[in-house]
Amino acid sequence: MKKIAVIKGDGIGPEIVAEAQKVLAALTAKTGVQFEYTDVLMGGVAIDATGVPLPDETVEICKNSDAVLLGAVGGPKWDTLPGHLRPEAGLLGIRKALGLFANLRPAIIHEALIDASTLKADVVRGVDIMAVRELTGGVYFGERGRGYEASADVVGEKFEFAFDTDKYNTMEVERIARCAFDIAMRRGKKLCSVDKANVLENSRLWRETVNKLASEYPEVELSHMYVDNAAMQLIRYPLQFDVIVTSNLFGDILSDEASMLTGSIGMLPSASLGKPGEPGMFEPIHGSAPDIAGKNLANPLGTILSVAMMLRYSLGLEAEAQMIEAGVTKVLADGYRTKDILTASAVGGEIKIVGTVEMGTLVAERV
Ligand code: NAD
Repeated sequence: MKKIAVIKGDGIGPEIVAEAQKVLAALTAKTGVQFEYTDVLMGGVAIDATGVPLPDETVEICKNSDAVLLGAVGGPKWDTLPGHLRPEAGLLGIRKALGLFANLRPAIIHEALIDASTLKADVVRGVDIMAVRELTGGVYFGERGRGYEASADVVGEKFEFAFDTDKYNTMEVERIARCAFDIAMRRGKKLCSVDKANVLENSRLWRETVNKLASEYPEVELSHMYVDNAAMQLIRYPLQFDVIVTSNLFGDILSDEASMLTGSIGMLPSASLGKPGEPGMFEPIHGSAPDIAGKNLANPLGTILSVAMMLRYSLGLEAEAQMIEAGVTKVLADGYRTKDILTASAVGGEIKIVGTVEMGTLVAERV
């Protein structure tokens, strides 16, 4: 029995999570693997019910589960609340409480959706990249502040300044690098570590630490790339990448860039992992899409593929993960599309437009 804490959240969250659970029910029928769900509150619904975005009970239940499945949180209703009471504070809080230091974002091009990319089909065909971003350190969490200082250029005046500190220690680098090496071992055995070691001391320590670890993974082909070059290479020749590992700031930017190679926000899953053996959190990369909530328009595939990542990375069920991924590929090959992935060249012909619920059912049938 696998214990899953379920955070449906706000907006389209409950709709897409329901479809992911439908697919898991099909998996249970096929393989016998059982899932026990506990619904917990986070985000706007939690604010409405309890006054805070992340109730203590949610944290407790998540910590005592095998994995956490999340839809999305947030919406205009809660946008005017102070920062610590907004739905997004729940997201940061649960990441911290679970010690989720690694964010995994795959960018995979489905052949059936190749026209959805803004890049030429020849450039993106076959792309299958895993971006591994450090999530709890670096400049987003370093010391910051403001002050006033004199300038050598202007005599007699002071100017306001601000600073943020980009700091990593070797433990933080080693654990994210180890996570990336382990993932590379399960995939194409190529790892590219992205930094700015030509300028930043922090990046030089990052590179030294990754290099030290490489001896433990002789089968993995390790390379290093400066972040400016990586941003360019992702667009120029994305097929060269298998696994990319990088810091919080660089990863924030590069993982968005990599995911947009695929051109479709509703399709993309993510995983956030902590220490081996502790519960990871799995969610689509998109938000709560309040503009389409409750209209049976949301694409549930990003959430369904997040469930596949949950099976693979937190529950040790690789074959079952592949069954779900194959089901999604089949549904797309069979011509079914939610409106957001209806590409210009695919309008008409054998293409069938379906809603959230139908899409979930179609995947479940193919599992
Ligand atoms: P969004 O990702 O919710 O929506 C952006 C656009 O993409 C919208 O037009 C939306 O309709 C569309 N879209 C998103 N997911 C889709 C899907 N599955 N199927 C079809 N279309 C989809 O981003 P936003 O509009 O900037 O944010 C809306 C709310 O979500 C905000 O409150 C924001 O803070 C929150 N948010 C939450 C998360 C999260 O829970 N992890 C992430 C990002 C944004």
